[in-house]
Amino acid sequence: MRLLIVLGTRPEMIKLAPVIHECGKHADIEAIVCSTGQHVSLLKGLASFFEISVDIDLGVMSPEQSLASLTARCLEGLDRVIEQHRLDYVVVQGDTATAAAGALAAFYRAVPVVHIEAGLHTNDIRSPFPEEMNRRLITMLADVYMAPTLGAVDNLLRTGVEKRRIFCTGNTSIDALRWAVSRQPALSCDTPLVLITAHRRENYGKSIDNLCGAVRELSEKCAADFVWPVHPNPQIAKPVHALLDGSTVQLSRPLQYAEFVNLLSRASLVITDSGGVQEEAVALGKPVLVTRTTTERVEGVRAGAAILVGTDRAKIVSHAEAILSAGCRVPNDACTVYGNGFAAVQIIDHLRQLQCVR
Ligand code: UDP
Repeated sequence: MRLLIVLGTRPEMIKLAPVIHECGKHADIEAIVCSTGQHVSLLKGLASFFEISVDIDLGVMSPEQSLASLTARCLEGLDRVIEQHRLDYVVVQGDTATAAAGALAAFYRAVPVVHIEAGLHTNDIRSPFPEEMNRRLITMLADVYMAPTLGAVDNLLRTGVEKRRIFCTGNTSIDALRWAVSRQPALSCDTPLVLITAHRRENYGKSIDNLCGAVRELSEKCAADFVWPVHPNPQIAKPVHALLDGSTVQLSRPLQYAEFVNLLSRASLVITDSGGVQEEAVALGKPVLVTRTTTERVEGVRAGAAILVGTDRAKIVSHAEAILSAGCRVPNDACTVYGNGFAAVQIIDHLRQLQCVR
């Protein structure tokens, strides 16, 4: 079985690494790893951390390019790759421009598409933007759906996807997390740590300013370390530095995944708009304030580990203060809502079985 594994962003590399590892365990599987290069700086170091190699790099990124030109470059580049190889499946992950272009390019060349992390949906096509639309497009284009949760399975069934094409596997982010945690020394630290990330397009502008105001206020009121690895996008980096330089909040460049997981393991509270960070924080039993008005990761909210707080400054401050002063016990069963660390094994198992009956 020959697979083209398409990635291009940090979360794709993290979530596909366990799948690539799993492919490597089977002599009858050839996995060709193709990066579009949608993220350049954020991918640095990830392949070597996960001990995987990228076979083809399309290098599509150019400064300040529009979503349309990024997507067009991904589509053309991936089309050439798909044309040159005899493939059984094209594997895409999640909801990026890379994943949507990969699914469309494969569809045009009549190669079946496997969608990993399928079935995540909000009820608003513009939130998250443009990821929710990318997901819906990929749902239309895919042939095999690897859903991380039963909720995601339900979403797919409601969209009209045939049951026989859907497999509930857990999220490979948890496999990657367990892999990273197993390579870390055990940590302990007396000072509470609040870890913050932000990168969503719909939070550009006023929302990011509010979040900065809330974090500054918290850092002045609470005895805790505040660490914020700042996303390099100027729409985020500029206001964050403008509003928080000179405060006690420790602003850093994006951290290597291992370092980030290390901080996450130590954190008392996580404030984030990231999808992957919501999953990882919940899996590590950390309370999460989600600075969004909708989330497709509803399992963490239902399990009592995550709270949707939006980007209202006072609301973020009051929830964070309550958690930091009283502590927050995340229910034990919340830790497995996104998977048990064996998603990639199941994904490859299902694909091998499908291959047998094709
Ligand atoms: N991450 C990282 N370094 C950082 C911040 C995040 O390695 O400084 C990792 C994090 O562990 C998670 C992933 O990046 O696995 C999430 O990526 P991002 O928030 O960019 O995307 P999303 O998950 O929202 O699609």
